[in-house]
Amino acid sequence: MPNMPLPVQNLIDAFSRLPGIGPRTASRLTFYLLKNSDEVPLQLADALQKLHSDTDLCTECFNITLAGRGLCEVCANPNRDQNVICVVESPMDVIVLEQTEGFHGKYHVLHGLLSPIEGINPEDIRIGPLIDRVAQGGIDEVIIATNPSLEGDATALYIQQKLAPYPVRITRLARGLPIGGELEYADQNTLLRALSGRQSM
Ligand code: ZN
Repeated sequence: MPNMPLPVQNLIDAFSRLPGIGPRTASRLTFYLLKNSDEVPLQLADALQKLHSDTDLCTECFNITLAGRGLCEVCANPNRDQNVICVVESPMDVIVLEQTEGFHGKYHVLHGLLSPIEGINPEDIRIGPLIDRVAQGGIDEVIIATNPSLEGDATALYIQQKLAPYPVRITRLARGLPIGGELEYADQNTLLRALSGRQSM
């Protein structure tokens, strides 16, 4: 789009960098905010500003929690099974699994998957702290719930190898999930089936 005033172009560019938002949607959102004089843009700006400053990662599982809290809601809940850990790629996956109400253990959020092509190595994601949690003992089962993709499989295999020395059962979600499908797009029944049909690795 030619000769857009810089502040307008800046916001279009910023929106365009978000996943799933193309240039057309980015422009539409920008002009919507431009038309709406104050309230909506200010609310958005305020929320964006606090998104990072008011949140933190759980010190135990790396799920998102409120800043200064330490533990996330799941880890702080004494009624959760303390001896089962479900390993997921992102905090979104925790939300999706929690919505199924079919899992009562705890989580471990990797914040990424191994990808040699993209140069993402074990030290770039939270695998080390997972091994530490298991090494401390008291864990009976680790359910690896990474997506059934090349990266998800590679990550699962790597974790399995790293956990091999420990007396812990390692399982993987059943292949009820569509190949290459992502947890966050699976419906609750599919996820519940994948969870209850999990298999030893
Ligand atoms: Zn936690």
